[in-house]
Amino acid sequence: MKTSLFLKSAAVLLTALALGVFLFMRGRVNAEASAPSYDLLITNARIVDGSGNPWFRADVAIKDGRIARIGRLGPESASRTIDARGQILAPGFIDVHTHVESIYSQPAADNFVRMGVTTLVTGNCGSSTTEVGEFLGRIKEKPLAVNLATLIAHGSVRRKVMGLGDRAPTPDEVKQMESVVEQGMKDGAVGLSTGLIYVPGTYAKTDEIVSLARVAARYGGLYATHMRNEGDKVADAIRESIQIGEQAGLPVEISHFKISNKKLWGQSPMTLGLVRDARARGLAVTVDQYAYTASSTSLDSRLPSWLRAGGLDEAKKRLADKDTRERAINDTKDALKRSGFKDYSFAVVASYGPDKSFNGKSIAEITKQVKNKSDVKSQIEQMLEMYEAGGAAMIYHGMGEEDVKRIMQEPFTMIASDSGVRQIDESVPHPRGYGNNARVLGLYVRQLNLISLEDAIRKMTSLPAQTFGFRDRGLIREGFAADLVIFDEKTIIDQATFDKPHQFPLGISYVLVNGQLVLANEQITEARPGIALRGPGFSERTVGAALRGRPSF
Ligand SMILES: [Zn+2]
Repeated sequence: MKTSLFLKSAAVLLTALALGVFLFMRGRVNAEASAPSYDLLITNARIVDGSGNPWFRADVAIKDGRIARIGRLGPESASRTIDARGQILAPGFIDVHTHVESIYSQPAADNFVRMGVTTLVTGNCGSSTTEVGEFLGRIKEKPLAVNLATLIAHGSVRRKVMGLGDRAPTPDEVKQMESVVEQGMKDGAVGLSTGLIYVPGTYAKTDEIVSLARVAARYGGLYATHMRNEGDKVADAIRESIQIGEQAGLPVEISHFKISNKKLWGQSPMTLGLVRDARARGLAVTVDQYAYTASSTSLDSRLPSWLRAGGLDEAKKRLADKDTRERAINDTKDALKRSGFKDYSFAVVASYGPDKSFNGKSIAEITKQVKNKSDVKSQIEQMLEMYEAGGAAMIYHGMGEEDVKRIMQEPFTMIASDSGVRQIDESVPHPRGYGNNARVLGLYVRQLNLISLEDAIRKMTSLPAQTFGFRDRGLIREGFAADLVIFDEKTIIDQATFDKPHQFPLGISYVLVNGQLVLANEQITEARPGIALRGPGFSERTVGAALRGRPSF
């Protein structure tokens, strides 16, 4: 009896204690909620968190540039609230393939911001600054709307050490190139890039690239490549990229994965298969893609590499010789034949300095206009003349839609624009720089049902963040950087076309970078909250090896 009374008293006491603790905790929670403890609250959103998981409903609170809380949060908890009105809230898009070396002259980067992009990786295709520390450090004096990371590019390093010549490096030159790459990695580059169709990258053999990739590997970087060939020899080029990754011991990112040879249209199961095989062997290979059937690059990339050695002045001297000119024409003609196109009507001028009336017209049309000829030889002669006059930026309508779709469906494919910062109404550039992300979400997700909304977002956020080592971005998670985008998945669509590229997409209303609005109510703001994102080689030097961002591969 006595024991039972004692137990009863003990139970009452414990219950009272538990209630007290509960009330105390609740009081604390209430106190937390009643003072505006957050800078910004986003309510009424459907969250697609970047992981690929189905959307869920929650409020997101932001404080000091980070996602502070995800859950049911009262509007009184923040000094400012955005009602998302049932729209999609996603992590800001990470565009891992850009060419924005000139971004400091256009710090608003509005063509990217308006497609929901909050982080850019530049230095692609073998062309970058060789002063990575200076380039990334400039963001302090010249703040940007978006976050910025860069690769250190083989072509630029080679040019700095050896010029533009068509030759192999001496052992001493290899050492010098390695040390430039090493410095770039220590200054915060996220990896090494190559552009193996361009001068001078095209003159490098595989072993030269392996040497430099080993340096990037030592500092936790990856190898991003514009491959030696995306046409008739695309399979060999994929094999070379994989070989470099396996020999140097680092992850491989194949840039703007495509098949640009008409005869090989439909062969993407084979090219994707090569990547899958490498992954099955244990090499981390990923790819990126823009959502168009046309590419964009220089005019001279269609001309023989021997002709371009040493740069334009050297090439002009060669072309002054009649026989050499003839040889250049014949080699170019052979390349056209191999590519499966019958003439250059697939090649359209984006920007030609000496005569702006050429912009938007194909080489076939221009040749007709200038020479009143329509044969291939005259078209090549026209291209050579334009090259001699300084060259042109081009758009090549060279891919098949079936391959674009199949590549997009592959789990390891991310979405990236391959664009620079755009100046409104300047030339007739590829529309990808204005529309890429919105096009995927509007056309391929909503209209064509090719991939799910959640998977498309994953390809624009957590997959690029994981691949390039941005540890606290690409997901909506407490503690992560508040890079966010709000859009209407029922109306989002690209508007930029090949004829009229300077048009922003529809359906994106808010973009936040590090917790600050860079797009509010579809209007670009004055905020410049972007930061430099430095690779693991940088943090290793400054905060110690224990904090290395990327596990070694
Ligand atoms: Zn490229």
